[in-house]
Amino acid sequence: AKKIKVIGGGLAGPEAALQAARFGCQVDLYEMRPTRSTEAHQTSDFAELVCSNSLKSESENTPPWLLKQEMRRAGSVLLTEADASAVPAGHALAVDRVEFSRRVADRIAAEPRITVHREEVTTLDENDPDTITILASGPLTSPALAAELQRLTGADQLAFYDSISPIVDATTIDMDKVYFAARWDKGTADYINCPFTKEEYDRFLDALTTAEAVPAKEWEQIPTASQKRHPERSGETTESKDPEGADIINAVGRLSTSTATLLHESGKLQYFEGCLPIEETARRGRDTLRFGPMKPAGLTNPKTGKWPYAVVQLRQENLRADSYNLVGFQNHLKFGEQARVLRLIPGLENATFLRYGQIHRNSYINAPALLTETLQLKAHPSIMIAGQLSGVEGYTESIASGMLAGRYAAAIAQGITPTPAPRGSANGSLTHYITHAESKRFQPANITFDLLLPLEPELRKKMRDKKERHKLQCDRALEAWAAWLNGVEQNSVHVESAAI
Ligand code: FAD
Repeated sequence: AKKIKVIGGGLAGPEAALQAARFGCQVDLYEMRPTRSTEAHQTSDFAELVCSNSLKSESENTPPWLLKQEMRRAGSVLLTEADASAVPAGHALAVDRVEFSRRVADRIAAEPRITVHREEVTTLDENDPDTITILASGPLTSPALAAELQRLTGADQLAFYDSISPIVDATTIDMDKVYFAARWDKGTADYINCPFTKEEYDRFLDALTTAEAVPAKEWEQIPTASQKRHPERSGETTESKDPEGADIINAVGRLSTSTATLLHESGKLQYFEGCLPIEETARRGRDTLRFGPMKPAGLTNPKTGKWPYAVVQLRQENLRADSYNLVGFQNHLKFGEQARVLRLIPGLENATFLRYGQIHRNSYINAPALLTETLQLKAHPSIMIAGQLSGVEGYTESIASGMLAGRYAAAIAQGITPTPAPRGSANGSLTHYITHAESKRFQPANITFDLLLPLEPELRKKMRDKKERHKLQCDRALEAWAAWLNGVEQNSVHVESAAI
């Protein structure tokens, strides 16, 4: 059988290594810490949770619960250890992070088929006939390895940054100053439009272009300039402090103001066009915003019967409609500066911001263009990608993708063609999303109902109760998962009955 090389001792890597070993393969697991660390990791432990300690909801019939249920049924080692390290957290699975890492390390140490190498991997050998490589080096993949991955995939297939737009509390918008409208009256009038006069626009532009940005830091240097734009995202929320003292939500639970820094000041970074922070676009010319994200064309103000001079559009952020996203307003200004500048937008004078704009490092591949459903590079099938780097988002999703990659790699190593996880399951839905999403605007995703296989329209109509619909979706997913597991395990002569 071929050997398996796993790069990355975070979440996806150890899970992949343990799965492949469990299925009888020899595994080399590479982790660069402590020789070299990332800007987020604090320790040299395996399975370090870099931010919150939550693996999300355990409420029945929610997508995060479903994903975890499937993983438990498939024998995910890291989830088993997460369960064993759980701390009280209401309806969520939260863990004692030290205990969790310790347990994962013990599992790796107890596995004779895994050899650990504490070194940075900087090259990938796509032509090695004896090795399957699982690349699970995460959102903070070292620059040398990222450059190597670009060599294999093409420079524009690897994103290095995510950017997010500010979110405003709906109850703090001055509704007398704004109006709902759809551009050219096409579709439903879901957007709130904040209209500017020329004077208001000039004042706003002056403030925006002179506001203070978050200072650049060395670690943000990247090997190339390619980036992608991923403005409106929802993720797990963690609290952080507003410069004015109010609690704000850093919706991706990511980098704090001090670490989320920008690069253009260093002169070394060129922006991918779609990712430009708003203040950078504004600097290109006094009218650039009016012809870009603040374009008023087709947005007639019912009060005047005319298009305003410029417009900021707010898009509903959640179903409750209690928060709105400032469309296209990803930026890299200091939080206090954002509060000051954004309150110059008509209607937002007294706004409370639930999240400020940010740009942060997050490496991930253009999975829809590059990956097969069994997580192999289409052009180099002996290289597999797992974890956040593959375009899934979140701790649990990263472990799940490591679990699949480990199983697929084991099958391939033993000459068996792996069967991808079924579309009907949560695991399969996640893979389906990353491999079938629109590749031009691909952005990483958590598991959500949007990704799961929808119910038939007639059935949807008949089932009025949302909870019932969700339960049916989850029941079906678990059935599809069980059928797949059953088939896969029956077909694989090499399955070990390792105790989980
Ligand atoms: P990682 O856990 O980062 O593991 C990758 C490993 O590869 C690291 O140990 C790294 O040292 C190693 N490595 C990198 N390059 C090399 C190399 N060349 N050679 C050898 N080893 C290498 N998700 C959530 O669900 N909740 C959160 O609160 C959350 N917070 C986050 C905060 C930050 C700052 C970041 C960056 C991400 C966060 N995420 C969060 C997203 C994501 O879930 C985590 O990044 C998760 O750890 C991803 O798992 P992974 O295994 O893909 O990568």
